[in-house]
Order: sequence, then C-alpha cells, then structure tokens
Amino acid sequence: MNAAEPGRRPAADGRALTAAERAATTIRPDILALSAYAVGHEDDGIKLDAMENPYGLPDVVRDAIAAAARATPLNRYPAGRHDALESAVRAAFGVPDDAALLFGNGSDELISLVVQACCSPGDTVLSPVPSFVMFDMSARFHHARFVGVPLTAAFELDLPAMLAAIRAHRPKVVFLAVPNNPTGGRWADDAIEAILAAAPGLVVIDEAYQPFADGTWMPRAAGLANAVVLRTVSKIGLAGLRFGYLAGPAPWIAEIDKLRPPYNVDVLTEAVMLAVLRHKAVLDEQAARLRASRDGLARELAALPGVTVHPSSANFLLARFSGKMGGNAVHQALKTRKIRVRAFPGDPALRDCLRISLGTPDEHAALIAALRDILG
Ligand SMILES: *Cc1c(COP(=O)(O)O)cnc(C)c1O
Repeated sequence: MNAAEPGRRPAADGRALTAAERAATTIRPDILALSAYAVGHEDDGIKLDAMENPYGLPDVVRDAIAAAARATPLNRYPAGRHDALESAVRAAFGVPDDAALLFGNGSDELISLVVQACCSPGDTVLSPVPSFVMFDMSARFHHARFVGVPLTAAFELDLPAMLAAIRAHRPKVVFLAVPNNPTGGRWADDAIEAILAAAPGLVVIDEAYQPFADGTWMPRAAGLANAVVLRTVSKIGLAGLRFGYLAGPAPWIAEIDKLRPPYNVDVLTEAVMLAVLRHKAVLDEQAARLRASRDGLARELAALPGVTVHPSSANFLLARFSGKMGGNAVHQALKTRKIRVRAFPGDPALRDCLRISLGTPDEHAALIAALRDILG
C-alpha cells in the first residue's frame, strides 16, 4: 500500500485513517463547527412552520403545467438567456423596464451570489437580528464576517444602532428583510432611506413577504445607486420550484451575474414559471385570502392566556408564550398533536416565541383548539 495514496494516509498507529478522520482534517474548521440548516421532515399533520402557501393550484393551472413540462426538451441544456421568462416576470411582479434582472435557484442562491460578489475574506455583512438566518450563514460560507444589530425589545428596527454599526463596521453588504422574518414587521421607508444613505456598500432589500404587505421598493429598483430588490415565489405558492429574482441597477446586476452558475434555472422551472404566471391571478387571490385571515388569527391567539402577538405584514405571526407554559413546551405539545410551528431554542431574543405560518381556516381552527386545550 502506498502511504501517499489519497484516503490511505496512515494514522500514528499505522492503520489507514477513516473517512471521518480524513474529513476532519480537510474540511474547513468553521464548517466542521456548524450544524446543518434544519429542514423539517415530517409531512403529516398541519404544517405551519415554513411559510408555505397551504392552497394547492387549481386543475386549470396544473394542466397548463403538465402541458408545458411535456413540451420541454429535457435532453437540451437551458438557453443562455431567459427572454420570455424575463418579460413574464417583469409584467407579473412590476419590475421596472430599466431595472436589470437576475434569476436564482431560489432567492437563497441570490443571497449567496451577492455575498460572493461583494465580500473578500474578512469583509463584513450586516443585518438586523433576529432576521433570516441565511444572511448570517451565507456570510460565513464565503469567509465574510457577520455583524447582527439587535432589534429593539419590541422587535422594531433600532435605526440609531444600525447607523452606528454601519459607521463602525463599514459593511460591504447590508441585508434588510422587508417585512422581516421571523418577526413580521415592515421597516419604515424613511428608516431604509437612512440606511441606504449611510451604507458604504450594497443594500439588499429582501421582499420575500411583500405579497402580504403594503408597499414595495420594486418601483425604485433601477434608480438607487446602492440597492437591489430581492424577491422569491416560494411564499406565494411555489416553494417547491426554487425560483427567486434580483432586480436592480444594471451595473450591480451585471457583476453579480458573473458568479451565477450556468443553467441555475433549469428548463422545467422556466417552463412551469411561464405556465403559472399566465394564471398569476390565482396566486394573487390566494395571497389575498391568506392576508385577510391574518388579523383574525392574531386576535384569537392574543385572546389565549399569556400570549402576545407581534404585528405582522407577512404570511406568519410571531407569538410569545409567557404564561404557565413557555414557548418550547407549547411547541412540543403542538408537535404531539402533529401541528408544526417554528420555535427558536437557540436564540435568546426569541425566547418563548413561536412563528406560526398562516394556513387555511380549518388549520387555524385546529391550531386554536389545540392551544386552548394545551394552555388550559
Ligand atoms: C423564505 C425566505 C427567503 C428564501 O426564499 P427561497 O426563494 O425559498 O430561497 C429569502 N428571504 C427571506 C427573508 C425569507 O424568509
């Protein structure tokens, strides 16, 4: 046996190293120290943990998708340009003509590309916390430093703290989820203006939950010198598809596009998006229905003993359980009843908080009945 052969290097005692030992000496130490992003696996029961749209697509749309998939040649690579899909996305989502567009395999991929494009090792990525965990993870994956600026105790943006942190850390990238995940609030436009004015690098306005909110930065996507607007179709009914888009001034988009893996949007995703966007009204109607159910669920939750509900502009509610049973105990009790919501055991700022995605009226009724029972 050749000692230099990869995978056969001997350990100190002469035996060949195991795969675990080889990995432990080769994988980056900071990656070894990470725990993998937790994705739920249970698919029975009531799923209110991932901000998915609970309504399926009607037959007319499913038939259109089937026909589009059947007509798609899978033996060919995707085309280099997505002109038809670009026009459809612009028309469906109000992307201004003069904004450039970049498509991603979900908006997660676009978050990663932005960090890669802007950050050299050691550069700073900044966002309020708690916010979307992928901002922090993407920064780490690409050897950038993540600075989180705590929200106020009421989960509002702490603008003076944000501006001070921007001055102190000179971040290459600032991520703002508007509305914010997991707190649900929508930062005021004038606070965002102040952050844009202070930021030395790029500000990404992540509008994943915009379909459930008032207001959008999309009309200004071409005109801001240091901002881009990020969107996804995941929260409006197409989470399984993996499609997101980044709109902004052409000089920014052209640079970020250099890092995009070729063919990151596959032919089926393109075909399905084109088919679904011809029926965009269906998605709009479902989003409106979910949004209309938000206040009612918030009122019912807030009427439970020890429960406070944070105001939300998104398709979820953040509720704090500070009665006899804390958030983790309530989370477990719901899980036993096969009702899945999201808890944040690792984050002290979100102690006793559960994030509950909006579901169907029946799902809301089942949730409230279970909580009444659990909280006695
Ligand atoms: C869910 C979410 C995304 C991820 O969207 P995908 O397109 O599914 O990758 C991005 N940003 C925020 C703030 C989110 O909550």
